[in-house]
Amino acid sequence: MFGALDMFGWFRKRTVGGAAGNTPVVPSGGCATEGSHTARAMDGPSSAAATAPGPKPLALAGRRVTVFGLGASGRAAARLLLREGARVTITDDASGDAALSAARELPEGVQFILGQPARALENAELIVLSPGVPRSHPAVQAALDAGVELIGEIELASRFLTAPLIGITGTNGKSTVTSLVGHILSGWKPHVFTGGNLGDPLAAAALSDTPWDFLVVELSSFQLESIRTLSPRIAVLLNLAPDHLDRYASVADYYRAKFHIFDYMKGGFALLNHADAGTELVTGHYLKGASPVLFNVQTGAGKPLLDGVRVADGVITVRSGGRDVPVCPVTDLKILGTHNVENAQAAAAACLLAGCPVPVIARGLSSFTALAHRMEVVPSDDGVTWINDSKATNPASVIKALDGQKGPVILLLGGRDKGSDLFSLREHVFLHTRQVILFGEAAEKFRIVLQGYPNLEIAESLREAVKLARASAAPGDTVLMSPACASFDEFRNYVHRGDSFRAWVREGS
Ligand code: ADP
Repeated sequence: MFGALDMFGWFRKRTVGGAAGNTPVVPSGGCATEGSHTARAMDGPSSAAATAPGPKPLALAGRRVTVFGLGASGRAAARLLLREGARVTITDDASGDAALSAARELPEGVQFILGQPARALENAELIVLSPGVPRSHPAVQAALDAGVELIGEIELASRFLTAPLIGITGTNGKSTVTSLVGHILSGWKPHVFTGGNLGDPLAAAALSDTPWDFLVVELSSFQLESIRTLSPRIAVLLNLAPDHLDRYASVADYYRAKFHIFDYMKGGFALLNHADAGTELVTGHYLKGASPVLFNVQTGAGKPLLDGVRVADGVITVRSGGRDVPVCPVTDLKILGTHNVENAQAAAAACLLAGCPVPVIARGLSSFTALAHRMEVVPSDDGVTWINDSKATNPASVIKALDGQKGPVILLLGGRDKGSDLFSLREHVFLHTRQVILFGEAAEKFRIVLQGYPNLEIAESLREAVKLARASAAPGDTVLMSPACASFDEFRNYVHRGDSFRAWVREGS
């Protein structure tokens, strides 16, 4: 084993002195042993403050600010604005009972105008837009045309936070990796905020008095559209695949929104997936101040062995300056599937760059269990493996779910199509399934896409799909609900769909 070397001396040099070139690298050095983390890459507010400029001030006192969106992030933004002395109005398209009671929960100083966003935005000097509201909303467009400043809740919150921020984006795996990085770092430091697009909004971190060591933040493309200065110390781009074409005019627009994560970085690291086609594009065109570091490094005949994090002989390994340091055997992971091996590598790399000792990372990786609704095995006593993958709302995540299966599965597919390329599923469905049961609005589209597939059934609803699956599944079979679509045709959201699936599976067992 290596001794306690200055593993991240490289980091300090680069971030104090400016960015490195755009050649993917990892810091050179060896393996930190437990308790030996004298050399730290990014270690809490004090050293971060020494190497990075603080957040750009945002004058709010007395300013008329309208928050558009009554969800958790909008409500937290309103509280933060109020604390900072702004004159706050909150608005939403919705004006029903749920919206009213959400608005009434806010402190007295916050005014609300429901169902009439245009009126609420009329006199605003600043708009704080929630990620659920598209910038193309007519009221927002009118305000933008009039030259009103607009930011997102993430940007707002970041102006009041100084702890180093690890931002995590990508088409799939954001929540898993964000939770995993938060879990690992919490085994090292006492004050780790984990949230953003999942769990607590970033504004909740800004509202709290906690002296944060790290901010581990899931960032969706919708949130990234409205950042103006946010500069993660480590930005992770997990992967890119077409998604959200119900909101973006093109795949290029969606990818561009993701690349915003790098726009304001003046140092720090961009953590990129070596196997992803988008990585070359990013290193070539979208990294301004960040140094690229690779995870999921691909090896094979004729390929140079690059620095970064990879799987070597079944062990997640960091290669740095030509030297390999083992982190954790893949068999120690409790999260299933090849995609989760990629996720674990990304999380390990982020934590290494944050300066976390290797043994702490290994412990965190091996103790982390799957989040609900992501390849979650539903216990049942019928001998069938029922998997709830309700969060798989695009074809890329279903492809990973199928490719990770050992034998042919019964696949439940359907819901509301988001304009995805459903044809990309065809080959994987033919290879890895023995029966497909379609449900929901997209059933007809899937029937066309899967034309010629020998064992296709159409159910009226997910509940009926579960019944049909039960009728044909024998002990030893796997039934996978990995729907490739949004849930809103039949359910409130993917959680409601997954909870319902779980309940129906249990009911019958
Ligand atoms: P996100 O927050 O990006 O939606 P999640 O971690 O919630 O990601 O996972 C969403 C879906 O994507 C789940 O079905 C999960 O099994 C799948 N998934 C997770 N990680 C990956 C990955 N790296 N590549 C492809 N699919 C993934």
